[in-house]
Amino acid sequence: MTDKLFTFGADAVRAYIRALFAKAGWPDRDCAITADHLVQSDQSGHPSHGVGMVPTYVEAIVRGDLKPSSKANEKFRAGSILVLEGHTALGQPAAHDAVEAGIAIAREHGVAVVNLLHAHHIGRIGTYAEQAAQADMVGLFWVNVASTRAAVAPWGGRERRYGTNPQAIGIPRPGAQPFLLDFATSRIAVGKTRVAWLQGKRVPLGAVVDSEGRLTDDPGVLFPEYTGALNPFGEHKGYGLAMASELLSSIFGGGETIAESRDSQRIHNSMLAIIIDPAKFGGAAGDWKARVERFIEWTKSSAPSENAMEVLAPGDPEFRARALFGDQVRYDEQSWKQIAEAGLKVGLSQAEIPNPA
Ligand code: NAD
Repeated sequence: MTDKLFTFGADAVRAYIRALFAKAGWPDRDCAITADHLVQSDQSGHPSHGVGMVPTYVEAIVRGDLKPSSKANEKFRAGSILVLEGHTALGQPAAHDAVEAGIAIAREHGVAVVNLLHAHHIGRIGTYAEQAAQADMVGLFWVNVASTRAAVAPWGGRERRYGTNPQAIGIPRPGAQPFLLDFATSRIAVGKTRVAWLQGKRVPLGAVVDSEGRLTDDPGVLFPEYTGALNPFGEHKGYGLAMASELLSSIFGGGETIAESRDSQRIHNSMLAIIIDPAKFGGAAGDWKARVERFIEWTKSSAPSENAMEVLAPGDPEFRARALFGDQVRYDEQSWKQIAEAGLKVGLSQAEIPNPA
């Protein structure tokens, strides 16, 4: 692997990913949602959930795990509760539609509890918090990663028991990008461990544990084979949040926890979303947007600590990254090679694959 970066026009990469999923058989709308999501993840500074995931998705298509004929459908609906069975549908459109349905329910009832079960990988969870915030809704999201190898050890354990179980919270702000908290509950991502291993680098001490339960900085405990495990972030507290992600996303709507899923290479996400319409608090929220803003500004006005330039709000790093990327996107040589090969595998021609700017 080299550190060389190729720069592309974001529109060209979006068009390529859209064409790739269209060639594989998905309707154009689903292709567009997926392409927009993946390119935006890259531009938000989260390449682990960007276009670099496409080779993994294409492997799933080739294996027959991910199929255009698979669609999410309604399993249960009562009042403000909606459960959708994902049937391993392409994750980004399935989750997008689940959040749209939740926004409509919240407009009517004030709150929606939407449980999307067993979708294929839904990507960056913050995307859905942003989607809710754009509709002036607060959104809370808990996600598990089932039907795939566990990667994370519980606090106090050394054997892998669950995935990187992310969570997200979005709160709209007036005339500003939303408060956007969105993170995996492992201390570092599987993808970041893989990159460190490929580059011969260490990970932060204690981010991983070896097969004997010793804290280490060696990414080799996960690659090429999983012998050790990732640790949860935030010690026992992050571990508790990871368990909450697993339980909330899968139990009540009748989905699988990772303990119940069959061993498979397939990536399955289930997501519980709670969407709240602040306008439905009978006016009690008053000038809530101005008060959110005041609190954020007050917090950020704290003088920086020794190692920081300034205090940021959750979401600031992602929105700043987008502003820096502008209409461009960048990939390292190895990642782009795999992304380009994915297009060829579904039958696109070399001419349909964009060239670096
Ligand atoms: P991360 O560690 O980069 O944390 C990101 C969060 O921290 C964001 O809300 C960001 O705004 C905030 N943040 C970062 N620096 C900050 C600062 N200085 N001040 C204030 N806030 C700050 O993210 P991660 O844990 O590596 O997760 C990356 C992505 O992976 C997320 O988008 C997550 O949804 C996604 N993910 C998806 C899955 C899945 O199965 N679909 C699994 C795990 C993670």
